[in-house]
Amino acid sequence: MTTSIDSSSSSIAAVDSEAMEILAAEEARQHGTIELIASENHVSPAVREAVGSVFTNKYAEGYPGKRYYGGCDNMDAAENLARDRVKKLFGCDHANVQPHSGSQANFAVFLAHLSPGDTVLSLDLSHGGHLSHGMKVNVSGMLYNIVSYGVNPETEQFDYDEIHRLAKEHKPKLIISGASAYPRTINFDRFSEIAHEVGALHLADIAHIAGLVATNLHPSPVPTAEFVTTTTHKTLRGPRGGLIMCKEDFAKKVDSRIFPGIQGGPLMHAVLGKAIAFKEALQPSFATYQQQVLDNAKHLADALKSLGNRIVSGGTDNHLMLLDLRTNYPDVTGSDAEGWLEQAGIIVNKNMIPFDERKPIHTSGLRIGTPATTTRGMGSNEMDAIASMLDRVLRSGGEQSVIEGVATEVRTLCDQFPLP
Ligand SMILES: *Cc1c(COP(=O)(O)O)cnc(C)c1O
Repeated sequence: MTTSIDSSSSSIAAVDSEAMEILAAEEARQHGTIELIASENHVSPAVREAVGSVFTNKYAEGYPGKRYYGGCDNMDAAENLARDRVKKLFGCDHANVQPHSGSQANFAVFLAHLSPGDTVLSLDLSHGGHLSHGMKVNVSGMLYNIVSYGVNPETEQFDYDEIHRLAKEHKPKLIISGASAYPRTINFDRFSEIAHEVGALHLADIAHIAGLVATNLHPSPVPTAEFVTTTTHKTLRGPRGGLIMCKEDFAKKVDSRIFPGIQGGPLMHAVLGKAIAFKEALQPSFATYQQQVLDNAKHLADALKSLGNRIVSGGTDNHLMLLDLRTNYPDVTGSDAEGWLEQAGIIVNKNMIPFDERKPIHTSGLRIGTPATTTRGMGSNEMDAIASMLDRVLRSGGEQSVIEGVATEVRTLCDQFPLP
């Protein structure tokens, strides 16, 4: 397998052959596999250069113009650039670009608005929620009283009347919208309305769909939600990290909860990478990319359906879908499927489907997303090929000869679509 690292000029190769071997293996893996994990993507060479730059050497505790260390002029310039671009991209009042991750962004919002014991209404983990929205073993579940909403058993979509009812019954102080595995359009305006009616604030976590929101391909929560959090590394296609947007009234508090509340020095190499990614996201070509992500997801869902599969909620409005394995492959669990597909070079993650009867370590579903394959330039023909390969591997029940045949097809396909 080829790798883009030229070991003759690599500084890593010169000092550490073990690390070099691991890095080269990962480059080869990313080149040689079809990445369908909905939360992953491939960043541009410019973003990679930024996160591998001398910005990693600098402490910059504080915020632009108010740092606790000297020598921060360039850090200030980078952070201001990133903040200004976020404001332009999403139209928000205030942006904090320092969160190390999406989970940190959410925790800072909790600390800005809640006291321990306060009630939070959020999406059930097994219906597509995120661990930072109240999982028992996460700090969110340890500190706050979490009430969950799920999807409607018939439609497998949000039932806003039911969410309204739960909000009136439990009087939460915060309502969280946004998900890790929800394939449909989210009515953020309705979430804001419900929150405001019961005296709660609305946190919209757009970690998965930020790229779609930035390009107006999904309605934005920014006008009506007090807080909007996101990761920068999923559909937004930036470096690994988090971001908080909020109304001006909450700016000071949110900033102080990130630093010094829960973080020390910001990862300024990531902040520089975020600034670059936001510039990329402001280009017309990024909107074209996001539209192709949507087209590919729809095409892949339709192709899987035409092979007899059931897709949770009947389809997708965004970059991901949930395949219900029980229809075509009743004996195959999500963990079986994930393992066999990985052997064939197709990377997916097992996922609970709503009202799943299998345990979280097994599951009855796969979560499948198109951001990464679309970045490589794959389109509808490749989506048809991927649907066919998935179906053959799963139908075979992990038959080695079938897996090997598909693995050869995967390699041929990958060679035609280089990584950025
Ligand atoms: C991915 C994700 C996050 C944050 O993830 P990190 O791994 O902490 O960056 C937060 N919320 C949702 C809904 C997510 O999908």
